[in-house]
Amino acid sequence: MSNNIAVSYQNHIDGKWVDSESKREYPIINPAHKDQVIGNFQLSDIEDTNNAITAASKASSLWANTPAPARGQILYKSLEIFSRRFEELARTVTEEEGKPINDSRGEIRRAMNIIEYSAGEGRRLFGHTTPSETPNTMAYTTRRPLGVVALITPWNFPMAIPAWKLAPALICGNTIVLKPASGTPLSAVKLVEIFEEAGLPPGVLNLITGSGAAIGNHLVEHPEVNAVSFTGSTEIGTDIYARGARLLKKVQCEMGGKNAVIVLADADMDKALASIVQGAFGSTGQRCTATSRAIVEASVYDQVVDQLALKTSQLKIGDGLDETVDVSPLSSAYQQEKVLEYIGIGTEEGANLVCGGGALSGDLYDNGFYVEPTIFSDVTTDMRIAQEEIFGPVLTAMEAHDIEEAISVSNQVQFGLSSSIYTRDIPKAFQYINTVETGMVHVNAPTLGGEVHLPFGGLKSSGVGQREQGLEGINFFSEVLTAYIDYAEP
Ligand code: NAP
Repeated sequence: MSNNIAVSYQNHIDGKWVDSESKREYPIINPAHKDQVIGNFQLSDIEDTNNAITAASKASSLWANTPAPARGQILYKSLEIFSRRFEELARTVTEEEGKPINDSRGEIRRAMNIIEYSAGEGRRLFGHTTPSETPNTMAYTTRRPLGVVALITPWNFPMAIPAWKLAPALICGNTIVLKPASGTPLSAVKLVEIFEEAGLPPGVLNLITGSGAAIGNHLVEHPEVNAVSFTGSTEIGTDIYARGARLLKKVQCEMGGKNAVIVLADADMDKALASIVQGAFGSTGQRCTATSRAIVEASVYDQVVDQLALKTSQLKIGDGLDETVDVSPLSSAYQQEKVLEYIGIGTEEGANLVCGGGALSGDLYDNGFYVEPTIFSDVTTDMRIAQEEIFGPVLTAMEAHDIEEAISVSNQVQFGLSSSIYTRDIPKAFQYINTVETGMVHVNAPTLGGEVHLPFGGLKSSGVGQREQGLEGINFFSEVLTAYIDYAEP
């Protein structure tokens, strides 16, 4: 398949780069150039998983007893290395995941932001002191690490999601086994290189690459793993949550989305249109917070759909390394097939194909997993394309007669990650904020993203367990201990 000589990358266990005990590797290709192998990676097995957990267990006491501000210094040091390697890291994300280079730069910045935030927490990690009801007694709470934590991450943010789990996990004093998506292991390898250079002691951060189906259950259920932080599909997350809960582990799962933007007739249309196009087609629609539904008030519905089609037709599609490209390939052949299948389903269900609708072909596209940015109008809530997460460049447009109907349509899905409304009407904006069923809500802003010092996550089938990032992330990765000290003279 390949005409280039690919580098082999190893697992990282107990401070050493090592081959898998399986002695097997698998290749990862560039989604924009199917013939370019970007590396071969370890196909880890149960023995590797056990070795990584043992190493993390062994390092646990040393790291837990390292003062939190000193742990923070290592995180700060990692930021210098991020800055030095910034462009190389962005290029890696684009070459293995496919997203446009500017989105990759944004992803690296996001990773750096959460590391910076977490490093600062090393000088806080606050507990409470409070009066005791008993005389001569001091009562306070303090935080302790959980021990060994498993971090299981998806392919769509291969640098930022591992970073936003491992930074709070590290500052709280936990040791880690990281299992990145099998499709995007190179970003995780580079992340580990950075923390190794920054001075993490051996065993604190261990990396095993390879198939989640082969080693995931073992990792989650292993008695020495005390907590699991997962981001990925609702199907896998639900299973992991149940497995972890049965063993009374602390588990957080951030999962799929079907995010909607509501456009009311009084909206700033330029802003709303730009936001929907960016939300639906930026990063090729492969964001958990991507906009996949536009719910538009009837009086402006036709106008909005026409304008969305026009703006979408102006997007430049190509290799994400081209600085001028807006939409790049899907991340894998599997994703491309899945998205094309959903486009077929939408057509069969009777939705109106407004633009796009197929794979792209020709010299520029034949060597990558390209799908045209696609819009369906006349979509109704009973259609699968209105209900299921497509996770690609497909937008469904739906009509609503008023805000009540728009909110009801927005809520009629199993997911509840992010949402947005465009309106100048403040009471309606608050009516929306108070009734929409999502964990994150935006007014006059895209469904995308979030800031690292605020909680990130969803309701319903989009999230279960404590939220990520901000203080919520610190709460997840630490245990609270309540202390009562009787200081009366004996
Ligand atoms: P996925 O198929 O669920 O995989 C996620 C991770 O779980 C991968 O590392 C995967 O390994 C691993 N895994 C698979 N089977 C496992 C098992 N039995 N036990 C333990 N781990 C297992 O999800 P994906 O396709 O990588 O990611 C796309 C999904 O992530 C979308 O649904 C998207 O919405 C969601 N997402 C959510 C958020 C959020 O914050 N809510 C953010 C980003 C993405 P393999 O790769 O080897 O299968």
